Amino acid sequence: MVLLAVISSLALFSAGIIVLYKMKKAWLSVSLFVLTLLAGAAVLVLAVIGSIQWPERTGRVQESGPYTILYRDGEGELADEVSAALHEMEPVVSGLLGEAPEARLTVRFSDRLLGEGVAYQSVGVYNWKTSTATLRSGISDWKSVLLHEYVHYRSHQYQALHGTPPGTIPQWFEEGLAMYVQHPLPPADPNEVEISRDLREIGTRQDFLAALEHTDVYAQSYFAVVQLIERYGKESVLLLMNSSSQDQFYARLEKLTGKSSADFSGSLMNAYRKDEEQMQETVKQFHDRLFKDDFEGAGQVLAAWSAAEGSRTAKEVEDYQHILLLHAGEWKELMYRLEQKRASRPYDMRFLDYALLAELTLLFDPEHAYGVVKEAQARITEDATSSHFINQAAEPYEWIAGNDPSEDYRMLIEDDLFFNQEIKEALFEKWQEDYPDETWWERSGKR
Ligand SMILES: [Zn+2]
Repeated sequence: MVLLAVISSLALFSAGIIVLYKMKKAWLSVSLFVLTLLAGAAVLVLAVIGSIQWPERTGRVQESGPYTILYRDGEGELADEVSAALHEMEPVVSGLLGEAPEARLTVRFSDRLLGEGVAYQSVGVYNWKTSTATLRSGISDWKSVLLHEYVHYRSHQYQALHGTPPGTIPQWFEEGLAMYVQHPLPPADPNEVEISRDLREIGTRQDFLAALEHTDVYAQSYFAVVQLIERYGKESVLLLMNSSSQDQFYARLEKLTGKSSADFSGSLMNAYRKDEEQMQETVKQFHDRLFKDDFEGAGQVLAAWSAAEGSRTAKEVEDYQHILLLHAGEWKELMYRLEQKRASRPYDMRFLDYALLAELTLLFDPEHAYGVVKEAQARITEDATSSHFINQAAEPYEWIAGNDPSEDYRMLIEDDLFFNQEIKEALFEKWQEDYPDETWWERSGKR
């Protein structure tokens, strides 16, 4: 643009000089020179103004940490929710891609998604040049779409930080990774997904979008990344993302899986279905033994279950280990494990984890039980039944940490605010010993 302005100015200036000489008015050439300079500068200023991406006319801006949220008048609440959601997503994605970078992300809503290579049915798009995630206005599942675009942003930042040349990471891997984080459950029925081509053929954005017209390449990409993480651990993501060329990416993929990219692509849906069947069989064996109170046998089933580090299966195995500890009555160990999970992966804590941890803490360390409930209250917001239970229990739990816990134990009993029947009975026994002169624990009518 600068070059164009200079060349056209020079051309006009020369033409002007020639005209002036012909008209024998050469003394005007100084004014002509000044005039040309001014005109050139004006063109440049206009060009710069034109190249700026202005927020929408009614744009308002909210800054929160590394995030800039552009929103319209009257959408302040939405902007607050977006900002809170981004801060929640951060540690989840850090668990996969390492620490969050300092670089900024801009999030905006728009009625139309413009840009190169945006599929027409898209509800979100991430622009690598401007680090901007644009979501379609008015979509109800914006959080899920934001999470998808947020993964693109973090992947982009990771590559920028590690000097990965643009275009090195195949598009199917980028989309698969975003889909993996976005969808805790498969976005498509694995029995209906078939992969007939080498994923390498949808490595570029253009090829990926072209393929999208006749097959669900997003679902295929999802299952490819699931396969990599479930079989080879979450470390495989960083190993592949650290490649310095596409050839290196595929060489690493081949080394990791022991298959060419064509074989990996062609076999992965069958492998996925086989792994699923195997998993169901293992879970069945575990429950069979647990049902017979064969805790040792159930523990052996879990010990033999090999799950790659950081995979979803590994988290599932961990959940079954907790169930085993609960049934085997190893509650102190269970409390310890849940505390560990709470400290290292708070974003993975679910209602069940909090409910068990709160009651175990009430049993072994009552003064700290309210802290658990308070945290659950702040984090468990999605499920109405769970939040109702937590909110009800919050008040007595809060008072238990105070001066006269026996009054508040009574409150728990009267409203029967217990989650696990066995822990409840243990609590009653403990209270009976701690307060031998009281009778309130008897009035529950549950014993
Ligand atoms: Zn995407």
